[in-house]
Amino acid sequence: MPDRKSKLELLCIERGLKMTDQRRIIARVLSESSDHPDVEAVHRRATAIDANISIATVYRTVRLFEEAGILAKHDFGDGRARYEETPEEHHDHLIDIQSGKVVEFHNDEIEELQRKIAEKAGYRLVGHRLELYGVPLDSKSDRQK
Ligand SMILES: [Zn+2]
Repeated sequence: MPDRKSKLELLCIERGLKMTDQRRIIARVLSESSDHPDVEAVHRRATAIDANISIATVYRTVRLFEEAGILAKHDFGDGRARYEETPEEHHDHLIDIQSGKVVEFHNDEIEELQRKIAEKAGYRLVGHRLELYGVPLDSKSDRQK
């Protein structure tokens, strides 16, 4: 394994989490994944590096990272929790319900609109989650409608 530490590993060290070899591998896999993988996908990628990593270890480690605030958990509507490094800058997600592909986006108008909605209701907005679900414009299921 290369010596260079992954971003998640560095964050773990910063937060004083004890790092085992397996945790280090899971941290690396998560840091190198930009597709918002679920636990099973993380497990597949981790066992490609170390076949001894169990799915239970991946579950435990992902929960640990999540509780430490360095991993963000998403529910994209199919019942499988999916993960990404906690982003430095806020973004929202568009989910392709056919392939599960996730597109990240940021839209100032939407951000502003949400702030206004909260304000009108008497609140200062401190956070939100927005998920769009779609099918590709040229896909069959879309044309059949
Ligand atoms: Zn994302």
